[in-house]
Amino acid sequence: MFKNGKAFVALLALFLANLFAWNIVYQLNQEQPFEVVFFDVGQGDSALIKTHLGHYILIDAGDGKDVLDKLSKEIPFYRKDIDLIVLSHDHADHLGGFLDLVESYDITNILWNGVSGESTLSARWKREIDTGDYNVKIARLGQRISADDFFIDVLYPFDDISGDYFNDLNLSSVVVRVVYKDKSFLFMGDAYKENEEELIAMNKFCQDKREELICRGMILDSDVLKVGHHGSRTSTSENFIELVDPSLAIISAGEDNRYGHPHPETLELLERYGIRIARTDLEGDIKIRINHE
Ligand SMILES: [Zn+2]
Repeated sequence: MFKNGKAFVALLALFLANLFAWNIVYQLNQEQPFEVVFFDVGQGDSALIKTHLGHYILIDAGDGKDVLDKLSKEIPFYRKDIDLIVLSHDHADHLGGFLDLVESYDITNILWNGVSGESTLSARWKREIDTGDYNVKIARLGQRISADDFFIDVLYPFDDISGDYFNDLNLSSVVVRVVYKDKSFLFMGDAYKENEEELIAMNKFCQDKREELICRGMILDSDVLKVGHHGSRTSTSENFIELVDPSLAIISAGEDNRYGHPHPETLELLERYGIRIARTDLEGDIKIRINHE
């Protein structure tokens, strides 16, 4: 039937086009479950959000190619598009994978803090976003990215800090709160207790000012806390835990971490507050699925 390879390829393309059309119809008619997958990428950090409308959002990408392997298990082979990537800060264990990702996926939007370090990786990232075809946004409090029952609010930094110098880039971490229906996820990046103190103060300031743009998303209370800085003792204060009041804490850490992450003090605090702890170093990838009624 197939006299030459070209005809076969053409037919296969037609078949696939058909398949896509059906797939799109299917997606429109029936919403998918909303999922957040916290990847086990060793010492790094990476989480994929699969929205009920079929959008893909990646928050950090770990260090290196591991993320590609993880994504291939979660994203169908015919989808090579990621709607939004959020980079919490310019450290290899969060940034590294993005540089491999751009080779294989079409990325539309990038949200980051605009703060670069001095590594060669930082320089490659800067070059990529300066020359690539991306819609780049600098994160700051008050921004909201939304679609139907889903939105992402930027909580930190409070202002545009692009181009600023940071002695410790963890302090520049972008903090976002992801909300789907009545469920919320707080992503802390590698933010420290100092950052948490600022968030606590802003949360208080905003309590009776929800109508103001910068305050509408400034809510700490969340169901799931992606614990800051891989569970180190420099993050996750007791005051902060009281305000966030999560039922589940996710810790992204590598096995036998050389920095001792997560720290026993952090674990003890979470346990004392009766918060369930899930760790990528012990449980591998952690998937949270929210089904529709
Ligand atoms: Zn980190």
